[in-house]
Amino acid sequence: MANTVYDIIIIGGGPAGLTAALYGARSNLKVLVIEKMMPGGQAAITESIENYPGFPQGIAGFELGMKLHEQAGRFGAEMVVEEVVELQLAGQPKVVKTTQNTYEAKAVILATGAKNRALGCPGEEQFRGRGVSYCATCDGAFFTGKKVVVVGGGNSAVEEAVYLTKFAEKVTIIHRRDTLRADKVVQEKAFNEPKIDFLWNKVVVEITGQDQVTGVVVQDTVTGEKSTVATDGVFVFVGMEPQTALVAGQVELTEDGYIRADESTATNLPGVFAAGDVRKKPLRQVVTAVADGAVAAMAAEKYVENLK
Ligand code: NAP
Repeated sequence: MANTVYDIIIIGGGPAGLTAALYGARSNLKVLVIEKMMPGGQAAITESIENYPGFPQGIAGFELGMKLHEQAGRFGAEMVVEEVVELQLAGQPKVVKTTQNTYEAKAVILATGAKNRALGCPGEEQFRGRGVSYCATCDGAFFTGKKVVVVGGGNSAVEEAVYLTKFAEKVTIIHRRDTLRADKVVQEKAFNEPKIDFLWNKVVVEITGQDQVTGVVVQDTVTGEKSTVATDGVFVFVGMEPQTALVAGQVELTEDGYIRADESTATNLPGVFAAGDVRKKPLRQVVTAVADGAVAAMAAEKYVENLK
């Protein structure tokens, strides 16, 4: 068992988790961040973040993640890259088990974020990494001079479609309605980009190919008619799913799986807080994630002080 009891353990090293670490460490608390991949979370795989205040030219998501990591570390937050496999959140101390270690803390901040939702159609799993991608920044260059489709009509789909025009000769956005969900300013960029065209009122019902993707079968949502679109790549951006499997049954969740926590970030369990995309909230952005992180750290600090 661990012999150090941390004041706060933060699960997840995205903007929410790293900001919580910064605020916690600056309050002289003993803070540990556990992240399974790399600093920055979902934001780190975004090519350019254009609406985070203070960066008028935008900032690469990866760079922002590294800067947040550096800043939290400068004030003494500890960070490990390990995968959490079990949480015991009721009672005191809280226990966090990873594949390598067991840690204990007085308070836990859940900042596990959300991951890309899959389409769930035949061929998607089979061609994952062989033409099917969920990250334009990671995989865009593989499609230089090729044709790709982007599925979805939200900010992610439309922004990433614009980004993919740097590489692909043609980008087709396939959306299930005839109007985009993306913000108007994002939509305008896509409408003005000659390499982008749109397939409206269509859902992808199958991804086809041999070794690599060669096409998608789409179905018209109005007429029900099916047709095939030839493509070399399929980029899927159909929304996010909260990463709450580890806390289900312990922490109260909404019907769609987000953690129920109010603006104070407190969950139903004393000493357990939720910050960032994993929390039920009206706006999921880097700026709201970092705000949650700061609030959660202050709330956790108050909780830890009251234990004394
Ligand atoms: P989103 O806003 O939830 O959009 C998901 C899109 O996928 C919607 O257009 C939805 O269609 C479509 N969709 C959902 N399930 C589908 C299915 N099974 N088949 C086909 N289409 C499906 O998700 P997101 O774009 O990933 O963004 C997530 C959050 O991050 C949002 O809050 C977004 O604003 C934010 N974000 C912001 C920025 C920015 O501000 N620059 C950039 C990226 C992300 P309907 O429209 O018909 O529902």
